[in-house]
Amino acid sequence: MRSIRGKNTKIELIVRKYLHQQGFRFLIHDARLPGKPDIVLPKYKTVIFANGCFWHGHDDCKYFVLPKTKTEWWKEKIFKTKELDDKNMKKLIEMGWKVVTIFECELKKEKFQLTMAIVENKIRAI
Ligand SMILES: [Zn+2]
Repeated sequence: MRSIRGKNTKIELIVRKYLHQQGFRFLIHDARLPGKPDIVLPKYKTVIFANGCFWHGHDDCKYFVLPKTKTEWWKEKIFKTKELDDKNMKKLIEMGWKVVTIFECELKKEKFQLTMAIVENKIRAI
């Protein structure tokens, strides 16, 4: 089954570019790990998911609005995505990985610096 998370989405590229500029080195879309994380930093045993607010049903977010048509279908689809996200996160944590999730809305201009500072702290935290 095709993953609904597109490869090389814009949000993902923004995060990758920033981390690269900060000197981090990473792998992308590592299929050996649950959920095929967008960014994998082996040195820090950290994985990062860069999630679209709509596809991943970001709670209490203005960018997550269910479409007016086929609403139930979308609800179900997004619920399943979230369930899978949770499952993968639990597996990764059990395997000893630190999991950082970044949502699209947290990368908007006015929030970007703060978000990435928090992400950097999480990566470097033991
Ligand atoms: Zn959001």
